[in-house]
Amino acid sequence: MKKEYIRPVIPKNIIFGPIFSRRFGKSLGIDLSPQNKQCNFDCLYCELEGKRAMESMQEVIAVNTIIEALFSRISADLDVLTITANGEPTLYPHLYELITKLKSLIPPQIKTLILSNGSTFGDAKVQKALKLFDIVKFSFDAGNEKEFLRIDRPHKQINLDAIKAGILDFSMQFQGELIAEVLFVKGINDGKSNILALCDFFSSLPNLNRIDLNTIDRPPAYAKEPISYNELESISIFFKSKLNIPINIPKRKPAQSLHQNLDSTELYELIKRRPIELFEAREIFNEDTLKRLDLLTKNHKIFLQKTNNLFFYTTREVNS
Ligand code: SF4
Repeated sequence: MKKEYIRPVIPKNIIFGPIFSRRFGKSLGIDLSPQNKQCNFDCLYCELEGKRAMESMQEVIAVNTIIEALFSRISADLDVLTITANGEPTLYPHLYELITKLKSLIPPQIKTLILSNGSTFGDAKVQKALKLFDIVKFSFDAGNEKEFLRIDRPHKQINLDAIKAGILDFSMQFQGELIAEVLFVKGINDGKSNILALCDFFSSLPNLNRIDLNTIDRPPAYAKEPISYNELESISIFFKSKLNIPINIPKRKPAQSLHQNLDSTELYELIKRRPIELFEAREIFNEDTLKRLDLLTKNHKIFLQKTNNLFFYTTREVNS
């Protein structure tokens, strides 16, 4: 077993936002891997940097450090507390302890959401933790092994059949809201055979509440192209003809005004986790923060990149 490294972290790196999520409202994020990307996939479309997939999390933050960081930032008007990571949050070895503490401490109207790649749902320890969340959202991009390896580039210990079995097993037990998301990349997982295989798999899940269909809409880790809105729409029509659950194509909502004041480090850390669109930035940051953003851009710490005809602030230039 690999030795766990307890890393001293700056608490303010753990909590990010609030941001307005297109799907879940006002969301405060908890990043379980705030210093480095730690993921067992290396997806072509990842909004974080491209990095070789790893089997387990090696830099682990103590649960109490996370709780302390959260309670300096939480407010009662939040809709959702989102557990995510610079990578895959279910690799965090203390997830059960963390969600148990969170549920006992946060106001009951704030929902808990985890965003996962679904790869560990067959693990009994992970399932025990996931069952305590209000909403579990998992990504699932390929029903066939070939497309799975091409788009998600998993760690070599991972195979698609085991993931499918794990998600199915979890779906049969979970009482909360279970949402799947497929992200399509042009020429990679948008072929007919993959779309059929995705449909087959989703139809086997007894308790799936919704499927979100998406494509690249923020600068990706690798230079790949989105599919068009019309193609997404056609896939959605096909899914609706086969599956008896809501199929959703999330649309970019106009940014809501937050006028946040962030220092340069907070600003950099936020954009590192989630590229921010040019006009969205004008709504969510105040004047002083926008000046800091301009300065970071002039100093080549932050870059402006075009994706899907929109410009995004990112912390990296896209790998080819
Ligand atoms: S998109 Fe998610 S699952 Fe894929 S590499 Fe990035 S963090 Fe990991």
